[in-house]
Amino acid sequence: MPFEGSCHCGAVTFSVDADAPTSAKSCNCSHCRRKGFLWAFFPREVFGLKSGEDVLTSYGFGRRIIDHVFCSRCGTQAFALGTAPGGAETAAINLRCVPDIDLDALKIERVDGARY
Ligand SMILES: [Zn+2]
Repeated sequence: MPFEGSCHCGAVTFSVDADAPTSAKSCNCSHCRRKGFLWAFFPREVFGLKSGEDVLTSYGFGRRIIDHVFCSRCGTQAFALGTAPGGAETAAINLRCVPDIDLDALKIERVDGARY
């Protein structure tokens, strides 16, 4: 069943045409640790931005292979868009921005992003 998420102020809303994940990736890199992301990755084609394109702004760093877009009103980064190593267009969803997901029930997979 598709699930939906949003930034804090509600300007940015999106839907993902996939079942809500039961696990999330928690990464210890300099960016993820500061923002506290809980990521789940999907093919880009199941991701749909429903509103907020006009308020999205982007934070680029490092090799800039990932578009870290966030809401310019409330500062929330609800998702990121990038290309997987194999070339597949990917949407990474910050599960903290999906109200229907019980964060405490997620199986957390640790990612050692600090190594790279
Ligand atoms: Zn917002």
